Amino acid sequence: SNTIPLAVLVDWLHRFRDAVVTQRDWLTELDSAIGDADHGANMARGMTAAVEKVEQTAPQTADELFKTVGMTLVSTVGGASGPLYGTFFLRIGATLGVVTDVEPSALAAGLRAGLEGIVARGKAEAGDKTLFDAIAPALDALGAALADGKSPAEATAAAAAAAAAGRDATIDLVARKGRASYLGERSAGHMDPGSASATLLFETLAAAVAG
Ligand code: ADP
Ligand code: MG
Ligand code: MG
Repeated sequence: SNTIPLAVLVDWLHRFRDAVVTQRDWLTELDSAIGDADHGANMARGMTAAVEKVEQTAPQTADELFKTVGMTLVSTVGGASGPLYGTFFLRIGATLGVVTDVEPSALAAGLRAGLEGIVARGKAEAGDKTLFDAIAPALDALGAALADGKSPAEATAAAAAAAAAGRDATIDLVARKGRASYLGERSAGHMDPGSASATLLFETLAAAVAG
């Protein structure tokens, strides 16, 4: 069957933690150009705490797993990314509900609800040069691939590629949300740090699903 076991979702979160820890200096460097040079530290601290909490509490259902991650991010990360990623994971958990195996279409719906949570919180729109610009195209690609009958591995790989393209397209954009918007036109020419971490989120999802 095509269902995604809880263990794969746990593996995804471990891989995302590992990626933001490994890429901490790069994420911080991106944020030093157009922000306050803390995105790498924020994501590494938040995901390290979140995975530790998951290891301590060993959640048995998708809703518990993502609620644990979301609440930990909200409480350990002071920057914009804490509440935004925190809301994202909380909404995923609430949408997936009390399940241990997740249908690919349910995961896509959960991720979509997560993005809606980010928008409800931060009011970002397409082209504002935020993590929205990586996540939205990733979810469009994921939905299209699943509708096309692609496997979860193929569909999440397509999502990761679309996230990376969206991330790269943020370089030319002028920021309209977050700290980078204070720079106005001077924010153009730099990659948005949140779109970079969000691409790691989809690359690690694809890696976890591929096994
Ligand atoms: P802070 O800006 O508070 O220091 P971080 O550096 O951890 O927080 O995160 C910055 C990232 O958060 C930005 O690169 C951008 O992608 C994202 N971001 C900031 N504000 C918003 C918003 N209103 N909506 C969506 N994403 C946002
Ligand atoms: Mg910052
Ligand atoms: Mg900050």
